[in-house]
Amino acid sequence: MQVASILTVKGADVATITPESTIGDAVTALHHHRIGALVVSPDGRRVVGIVSERDIVRRMATDAGVMSVPVSHVMTANVHTCTPEDEVEQLMVLMTGHRIRHVPVVVDGQLSGIVSIGDVVKHRVTQLENENQVLYEYMTGTR
Ligand code: AMP
Repeated sequence: MQVASILTVKGADVATITPESTIGDAVTALHHHRIGALVVSPDGRRVVGIVSERDIVRRMATDAGVMSVPVSHVMTANVHTCTPEDEVEQLMVLMTGHRIRHVPVVVDGQLSGIVSIGDVVKHRVTQLENENQVLYEYMTGTR
């Protein structure tokens, strides 16, 4: 199954924030959207970083003034991305291997969606439920 199948269900919307915004702005956006990470982008299309709640908590431990710090000082600049054609299994390996829970989807350098570990788990559970149903129907002769 490809990443595209997840995007078909959840859509291509991605919450972004500019690098010049403050961590205070990022906290407001994370709270507003009820999400755990924001893609950092100057224009909503080009990915220049990602800032997650973990980055903010880590910074808070050593910097009481974190709310006024620019996002660019706290974000991770080396972003792992995927394409809609990537297999969801590859994404699971990427997420567990790098201990990341969010992977932006990029097509021709443009932000085209995001997949979270929650999306991957949901997708996998649905897939297993479907397989289970097919096997049950096969074994009981109801298919
Ligand atoms: P998360 O698991 O998304 O809360 O992020 C954990 C750490 O990995 C944070 O330092 C993030 O900035 C970083 N991170 C999250 N997603 C990515 C990604 N796709 N590529 C690179 N780093 C990431």
